Amino acid sequence: KDDKDWSTEQISQSPKKAKTQVMKISIAQTSHGPEWVNNVDYFITKWHLGRIKSTSGDNVCVLLSITDDVVKVLMEEILPANPDVLEGVEDLRQLSYLNEPSLLQNLRVRYSQDLIYSKAGPVLIAVNPFKKVQIYGKEFLSAYQKKSLGAPHVYAVAAAAYDEMMREEKNQSIIISGESGAGKTETAKYAIQYLEALGGGSFGVENEILKTNRILEAFGNAKTSRNDNSSRFGKLMEIHFSAEGKICGAKLETFLLEKSRVAQLGNGERSYHIFYELCAGAPPTLKERLKLKAANEYNYLNQSNCLTIGGIDDAQKFQKVMEAFNIVKIPQEYQERAFALLAAVLWLGNVSFEVIDNENHVEVVADEAVTNVAMLMGCNSKELMVVLSTCKLQAGRDCIAKRLTLRQATDMRDSLAKLIYASLFNWLVEQINTSLEVGKSRTGRSISILDIYGFESFKNNSFEQFCINYANERLQQHFNLHLFKLEQEEYERDGIDWKKIEFKDNKECLDLIEKKPIGLVSLLDEESNFPKGTDTTFANKLNQHLKANSCFKGERGQGFRVNHYAGEVLYDTKGFLEKNRDPLHVDLIQLLSSCKCQLLNLFSTKIRHKSLKPATFSDSMNQSVITKFKGQLFKLMNKLEDTTPHFIRCIKPNPNQLPGLYEENHVLQQLRCCGVLEIVRISRSGYPTRLTHQELAVRYRLLLLDTKISQDPLNTSYAILKQYNLSTEMYQVGYTKVYLRTGQIGVLDERRKYV
Ligand code: ATP
Ligand code: MG
Repeated sequence: KDDKDWSTEQISQSPKKAKTQVMKISIAQTSHGPEWVNNVDYFITKWHLGRIKSTSGDNVCVLLSITDDVVKVLMEEILPANPDVLEGVEDLRQLSYLNEPSLLQNLRVRYSQDLIYSKAGPVLIAVNPFKKVQIYGKEFLSAYQKKSLGAPHVYAVAAAAYDEMMREEKNQSIIISGESGAGKTETAKYAIQYLEALGGGSFGVENEILKTNRILEAFGNAKTSRNDNSSRFGKLMEIHFSAEGKICGAKLETFLLEKSRVAQLGNGERSYHIFYELCAGAPPTLKERLKLKAANEYNYLNQSNCLTIGGIDDAQKFQKVMEAFNIVKIPQEYQERAFALLAAVLWLGNVSFEVIDNENHVEVVADEAVTNVAMLMGCNSKELMVVLSTCKLQAGRDCIAKRLTLRQATDMRDSLAKLIYASLFNWLVEQINTSLEVGKSRTGRSISILDIYGFESFKNNSFEQFCINYANERLQQHFNLHLFKLEQEEYERDGIDWKKIEFKDNKECLDLIEKKPIGLVSLLDEESNFPKGTDTTFANKLNQHLKANSCFKGERGQGFRVNHYAGEVLYDTKGFLEKNRDPLHVDLIQLLSSCKCQLLNLFSTKIRHKSLKPATFSDSMNQSVITKFKGQLFKLMNKLEDTTPHFIRCIKPNPNQLPGLYEENHVLQQLRCCGVLEIVRISRSGYPTRLTHQELAVRYRLLLLDTKISQDPLNTSYAILKQYNLSTEMYQVGYTKVYLRTGQIGVLDERRKYV
């Protein structure tokens, strides 16, 4: 129990009522307990500060600081709190006692003073302020550039990455994670802002990078129940520098856009911002040409009872997007084509069907919607109606058209809308890349900023959550590896006696997902290729083959559970196969290629090129969505492995996006999910307190009884440690620093009081 040192009287105490529940989760081994991700409020209760009055046996009488009540609790339910001098320290490692309530309290104190950034050793923690905080802009940029400010900050992380890149000629990465709405995208923008300010100069692109975000956010972000500006894709922005340290180009890579949002919305959520912005902000002549109506006239937008976002002016945003289009030099005519395609998608949602027989077969209603779609896509409206209501079947040598049912026709219509939108998004990313690519940089001079969707666990989790959580599992592995490595390398460099800690990773979970031939991904692909496969047969197959993996738990019916590093998630296999197959209807692609719109022709060529290759290839030769995603993740990890990583963990202080509200339970859940406690745990088994010999000497020299001791800091260190009889297991002396175990600095601090 060396993490519980009672030499200081102050303790945090859990409320009496919830004893067992609190213990269940505050003990590290059960952090993978099955219940807490979803039922976190039930398990976590508030911690209270108090002082020990007396102890008898296993019981302790505690005087609570706030209420002055005295309560009797079990010894094992209290944890040591830190002395007041340590309240609100910049780096959580400076705390004498590392435990959950101490971390929470420290972050809370800082947050209440608008100190939103803190460090957990090598990791920057950013707690979202949900309001403007005066810590950005020119003054701060230059202060961090000149190193006249040292407080934790995203600018400091960017500065460290830049300096290291210049010094070591090694590629760097800034990896930002956190749950939806925690502030990843904003943080990424501030990192880029710093690099733009520092690396501006000869090439001119430096002013473009941030502005391209406007396009990306308009087309790739949407209001969700968790975040008014939620990124529905992952992105990696790689910024290249010249030998002089000036930005000479950038490259953007995106990951898996959530296509389903185009056609289907949860209540209170919106589709992609650009649709509302176009409806609100298009000039009258453009509106006329696109036959555009108000957002509430479109089924794709009006299905969720949410058309506007408080405090956001969509029309004004549209102007900004148009400006950004000009900045990335998208020619006027292509801009208009892109807008026409957006309007086509909106009108597609209004295309309706009429059932014509008692087998539910349909034909398209020939109304304004379908005429407008055809006009905007540049195709014949009769042809469009045929494509949307029939499918061609090969019968021997003949090709016959079969009518679709209402359900099939609706799916076909939505597929077309999603296909057009996703292709448009990819095309825009290409345009941005063309415009950002200026000079070729040598390797060793780049900083990549990763802003990828965070771990998600909802009531209902589907294929999208599975992909997102899989990505996070990979990132977490990267995170663990580096933090273990960095930590242990420092010990080795400073020559202390250090037995390497066995690396505990999330391999088991990654195996569950990736292992060949039997892992979640391969089973999903197998079942997707199997014509008779259904979501239920898929669930059965998982149950049958994955039982042996401790991260897997089968459920009756269409469910399965995965024990992710950040908690257990219950997935519903409904829709998995279809989303994974993401079938490309040949008829739709043919339609695109027959359109007069050049963009659509381009999209169809690209799709054919990528997926259909020789027409003789069977459908099974097409890569499934999950396999493509897996490939992308591998590439990403390889790229990141080639860089020195800098980690930022964003924390959302409350689920309601409100300023000034720090909800302990909510924060604690994320500290756990994000693995902040993991780092704390690593620190615990190591030596979380590090002081240079000088620092130790300055702080504790007065404790020395023998004043004749040498003034040499190293000797002073030895003398101080010996004087206070710290057990040799509790510290190590390195070449440059003294390394102390958790709590030991508290012992020294306590004794200093009585000198
Ligand atoms: P998602 O995963 O949904 O994309 P995210 O982590 O990218 O979420 P952001 O969009 O960056 O979250 O942040 C959500 C909101 O929080 C922002 O729109 C902004 O209002 C606020 N916010 C985040 N960071 C800051 C900050 N440093 N200062 C002020 N406000 C912030
Ligand atoms: Mg985001």
